[in-house]
Order: sequence, then C-alpha cells, then structure tokens
Amino acid sequence: MGGNSHSPCASCKLLRRRCAKDCIFAPYFPSHDPQKFAIVHKVFGASNVSKIIQELPVQQRTDAVSSLVYEAYARVKDPVYGCVGAISYLQNQVSELQMQLAVAQAEILYIQMQHHDDDEPVTQIPEMGMVLDHNFPSSSNVIHHDSLSRESVFGYDVVS
Ligand SMILES: [Zn+2]
Repeated sequence: MGGNSHSPCASCKLLRRRCAKDCIFAPYFPSHDPQKFAIVHKVFGASNVSKIIQELPVQQRTDAVSSLVYEAYARVKDPVYGCVGAISYLQNQVSELQMQLAVAQAEILYIQMQHHDDDEPVTQIPEMGMVLDHNFPSSSNVIHHDSLSRESVFGYDVVS
C-alpha cells in the first residue's frame, strides 16, 4: 500500500482507468482476483454495481458485493433461472421435508393411540425429549407420571 505506485484494483484494470485513492471498487475487488469483478460487470454492469455499493452504508458493502458476485455466478451458470433455480430447489426440499415431518408426526400419534387401545399404563409422550428422559433416573415429568396410579394418570389425561 504505497503512494502513487499502487496497482489498480481489478475493476479499474478491466475498465482501463486510473484507480483513484478513494476508488469505490478497490476495497472489494482486489487486483489478484480479476474474475470477481469481471463477472459482476458482465451481469450487472460496472455503473450499476458502483451505484448499489454507494447507496449502502460502508459496513454492509462487503456483504452486498458477495451477494452480487454469487448472483452473477448463478446467472452465468444458469442463464434461465439464475439463483432463482437454487431458491426453488431449496423451497422444494423444504416442502418435501415438511411433508415427511407431518407423516412422522402422524405415525407418532397413531402409535400413541395404539398404546391407549392396548390399555397399557399411559405415559404422556408429548415430545421426543421426554421419551428419552424416561430412561434416566431423574425426577422428570414422565417418571413422576409413572409413579401415579393408573386411574389418576387417566384422570390427568382426560383433564389435560
Ligand atoms: Zn479502482
């Protein structure tokens, strides 16, 4: 970082202009990584990128540049959907997992109801954590319920 002879940032190098001391791009597009600027320039255009950076508070500019670079790469990789392709892929995964979760919860409910039908001592199993607690010799809720008589457990069941 020396006086007049500092090397231009990647942006100024590509745009073939003098890199001023207060160059808006210099902190985010170092000369050793020319591809980073080349790609946002290709997708968004240098002047748009500079406008976006300038309108943001300094502490948010690094994140903004990262997301612009990410979006630009995604657009080049997938000219049709860009990063929307990744977003919709992940949204599909989320709804698929939500469906699996709903199925698993229904299965748990079904198993709990079968236990009731078998007329076995009822332990309330509202959460997996409490099921696991069952094996520990602690004074957890589950063990407390176990120590009650069946009638009072049923009574508790009905009331709650
Ligand atoms: Zn520059």
